[in-house]
Amino acid sequence: MAGAPSTATVVKRRESASGPRRLKADICVVGAGISGVAAALQAAKQGRRVVLVDSQPALGGQAVNSIIGTFCGLFSNGTHGHQFTYGIADDILAALEQQDRALFYRNGPTTTVVYYDEVALGRWVERSILDAGVQPVLGATLMHTEVDQGRILSADFMTRYGAVSIEADGFVDSSGDAALVWQAGFACREPADYRVFGTQMVVLENIDEAAQPSKQEISARMKERGDAYGLVRREGLGFTIPGRGIAAMNMTHVETPLDPVEASAKALEGKEQASRAVEFLRAEFPDCFGESRVRAFGLPGIRQTRWIVGQHHLTVEEVREGRKFEDAIGRTAWPIELHDHDDGHHWIVFDEDHEHFIPLGSLIPAEAQNVVAAGRCIDADSAALSSVRVMGPCMAMGMAAAHALDLAGSGSVQQIDMDRMRERVSDNVERRHYRWSEEQLARPVVA
Ligand SMILES: Cc1cc2nc3c(=O)[nH]c(=O)nc-3n(C[C@H](O)[C@H](O)[C@H](O)COP(=O)(O)OP(=O)(O)OC[C@H]3O[C@@H](n4cnc5c(N)ncnc54)[C@H](O)[C@@H]3O)c2cc1C
Repeated sequence: MAGAPSTATVVKRRESASGPRRLKADICVVGAGISGVAAALQAAKQGRRVVLVDSQPALGGQAVNSIIGTFCGLFSNGTHGHQFTYGIADDILAALEQQDRALFYRNGPTTTVVYYDEVALGRWVERSILDAGVQPVLGATLMHTEVDQGRILSADFMTRYGAVSIEADGFVDSSGDAALVWQAGFACREPADYRVFGTQMVVLENIDEAAQPSKQEISARMKERGDAYGLVRREGLGFTIPGRGIAAMNMTHVETPLDPVEASAKALEGKEQASRAVEFLRAEFPDCFGESRVRAFGLPGIRQTRWIVGQHHLTVEEVREGRKFEDAIGRTAWPIELHDHDDGHHWIVFDEDHEHFIPLGSLIPAEAQNVVAAGRCIDADSAALSSVRVMGPCMAMGMAAAHALDLAGSGSVQQIDMDRMRERVSDNVERRHYRWSEEQLARPVVA
């Protein structure tokens, strides 16, 4: 039985000499989006002590917290495409498939995407990270690195509860913005004279799924009537998520500058743009969206800001020709999807049998010895990056980053045994598994 409420207190004062909380690891992964999570889980599978750090107070990066909602680039094109990425991707698919309505497959004519429930994915990430014995450090923003002869020795972070300093043999930069590589003083790239726009994702509830307009209808109406609602972007998606009674809206183009003050202003502008797009959908497509309400705004969706200068700069020509690199670590067939003008984006699709490859060289910063990048901050031109930064290949990159650091050990990632690397990533480069069950293939195609 509970007694009287406790009332005792202790008086404390901050000790001026108190230093940061210190952690030691084999691998420190900076950024807990889908690529960082894949890297951390892969490194833990290899028996490494792993610390996974993120500036958000939550795991999952954009995949969970920006409410992206579909895995792209995970299957080859056509209605019966084979899987490109395995390992962690298999674990995710298997876990979500077990949960009713967590997944739905769209077998469109040119692309195949996998719908996922971001809440279910978020819980999977949290449980998997804990089960794997990975040490998460959340709400921790990178402030400083100690670097000696191309090796990062330690990285310092600030959290609302004080500073944390992490020493590690190897580091993964899966921050999306090359935050670690930049902070360490290694060379990075930024767009020269153009912007790559981000998007504020929105989840709408109280919609009528049966009255869903097509993407083409929405885009045509945005072009025709967008001015009346103050829309910036003139094409986009308001797609129902089958069986969940909600729609995800991807209809804004928002700048994502690297200046902290401007970035904050643009994040709020993104919500204004999104609110206007909701008004547009409610008024122009009342059968489906007339009674809809905003259930949730995702965190700002960021496509491309700053990225590494790697051993290899992947080009759009290499993507188009499907060049197979000696050091390939992953592949995809996702279209070139470059959001480089405010009212629309380039969308260049590939044939059914096309695949393009990501070389390890694009993940390895040219000047670093113990750092590997993964995800949307690897080295590529903007068009090439736009087709390899979707989540299927991001998972492959995370796994490859962990393998590369494992093979490098206390040596350099610039000189790893490529035969062993090829063995480890061969599934993600060669294997052709046709995953679809008859039941999945029988589901309606969403245009
Ligand atoms: C609007 C939008 C829609 C998209 N739609 C799709 C889609 O439908 N399907 C698909 O597959 N892909 C889609 N993409 C692309 C895809 O979502 C991203 O490219 C992918 O999620 C990137 O994963 P990541 O792990 O590289 O980075 P992120 O998910 O961005 O993770 C990076 C993490 O690093 C952390 N971080 C950053 N800086 C620091 C720092 N200084 N200190 C500590 N932590 C830091 C961040 O908090 C973040 O959690 C979309 C992207 C956008 C923006």
